[in-house]
Amino acid sequence: MINLLDLELNKMEQLLSDMGQPKFRAKQVFGWLYKGVSSFDEMSNVPAVLREKLAETAEIGLPQILKVQQSKLDGTRKYLFGLKDGNAIESVFMKYKFGNSICVSSQVGCRMGCKFCASTLGGLLRNLTPGEIAGQILAAEKDTGERISHVVIMGTGEPFDNYDNVAAFIRIINDKNGLNIGMRNITVSTCGVVPMISRFGEDFPQVNLAISLHATNNEARSSMMPVNKAYPMEQLIAACREYGQATSRRVTFEYTLVKGVNDGPKDAAALAGLLRGMLCHVNLIPLNVVKETGFETSSKSSAIEFQKILEAKGVPATIRRELGDDIDAACGQLRLNAHNDAL
Ligand code: SF4
Repeated sequence: MINLLDLELNKMEQLLSDMGQPKFRAKQVFGWLYKGVSSFDEMSNVPAVLREKLAETAEIGLPQILKVQQSKLDGTRKYLFGLKDGNAIESVFMKYKFGNSICVSSQVGCRMGCKFCASTLGGLLRNLTPGEIAGQILAAEKDTGERISHVVIMGTGEPFDNYDNVAAFIRIINDKNGLNIGMRNITVSTCGVVPMISRFGEDFPQVNLAISLHATNNEARSSMMPVNKAYPMEQLIAACREYGQATSRRVTFEYTLVKGVNDGPKDAAALAGLLRGMLCHVNLIPLNVVKETGFETSSKSSAIEFQKILEAKGVPATIRRELGDDIDAACGQLRLNAHNDAL
């Protein structure tokens, strides 16, 4: 069965043209998918014969909600979605003043091995298809009854390790005949797969790029993030500078504050030195504690001091609002807990 959510509009046109249908039918079917229908019968302006024909070879592969955790503090909803093959993935729906945002997963598990992350503990199981990534948005919109205007690809998985599917996903959700989510409202977060950064800048110059940095020198970064051994910081920072020059876009550096590991004044000064003169912004993230990793979160005062040092040295920085503090909001935790519960 073809999952219609996997198809960009041009591929949908091809599929329907192979069924002897005119081009406009593809737009109609595509439009219905992103209005959130879950059956062909709901596509009221599509002829019944075509709906039947579609049902024989294709499906609307929305994920199933296995579990939802709702924060009582801020309306954050964390989903555990079930896929057709029995795998489970996570997404987080968040409410902001500017609109609703979702953090989607791009892979089942992850092979990048970041030491602070629960998603990687079982390794990479497989890539998600474009439709499985888009399905997370549709299922969350359906569940909340609210439109999602912003998307961050920062859940389980390394997006640049599944580049083609993530690229197709971005084009699908950007299509004006469907969800019509602006490129500037989409953010891709990488742990630092350097060779893909320039390609991404060429393919999607308007999509935001975020880099999970978390350290200021190779020794510290390699001990937390094995990807740094393959692509050390000099290469990563150089690629980000080139990306900024080529796209005139500001790179966001994600820096998780881990108590006693990378949250001291010296670390802040070193980070400022590293990023000096770059079009960028630092997002300081108080660590969401995952008990399996043994790391602790920084105190509020350390976080504020860290931010002040960066700003004094001309590097814009914000401390991320801690959403969903009362639920398992860290990446990979819900899936991990569900897995542990099942053992
Ligand atoms: S932080 Fe991201 S890249 Fe690193 S292991 Fe977790 S999911 Fe993978």
